[in-house]
Amino acid sequence: MIHIKPFDRVSPSLVKEYYYCPVIPWIQANLMVAEPMTDSMALGSEAMKPPTGRGQVRISTSRGATIIDEVIEEKNGKIIIEKKAFKSHNFSRYVSQAITSYVIAREKLPGVRKVRIAAGSKIVELEVNDQLVRDVEASIRSVERIISESSLPKPGAQGKCSSCWYRRFCPYA
Ligand code: SF4
Repeated sequence: MIHIKPFDRVSPSLVKEYYYCPVIPWIQANLMVAEPMTDSMALGSEAMKPPTGRGQVRISTSRGATIIDEVIEEKNGKIIIEKKAFKSHNFSRYVSQAITSYVIAREKLPGVRKVRIAAGSKIVELEVNDQLVRDVEASIRSVERIISESSLPKPGAQGKCSSCWYRRFCPYA
């Protein structure tokens, strides 16, 4: 039987889902399903449209594919901007998503010094450093492994299952 995968490379949103639960990237890759856009997601993407004259940057490299909301140039280097319509109680997911974008993009977008996450009224700016990249690289490698294998990964915290859209497809739920 031919095993067709909808994607074979990492994206920042896959890494963000991995932080919620490692089973989600596996479901997306093996069952080819993805959560449809909800009304609040649609409102969020409308709110995140870049200002006139600026635009998103789509980059595909050997590490994956990403869409960066905005790139600005300052005198000490570039800043990648990740925009979110809403704050999250789990802000580390946004950080992992933004740093994944940096890791994917850096071979074609050199000179990035910072990542700025704007989530609602909360704005966090992170200096890109080796430790941060190493931590996220470990997660990227885990996601690469999960989407390339047919065996199920271990689930994350089971308390999240009741609010997980993927539970209808999940072998653990
Ligand atoms: S239902 Fe639970 S175990 Fe399954 S993907 Fe969702 S959070 Fe993970």
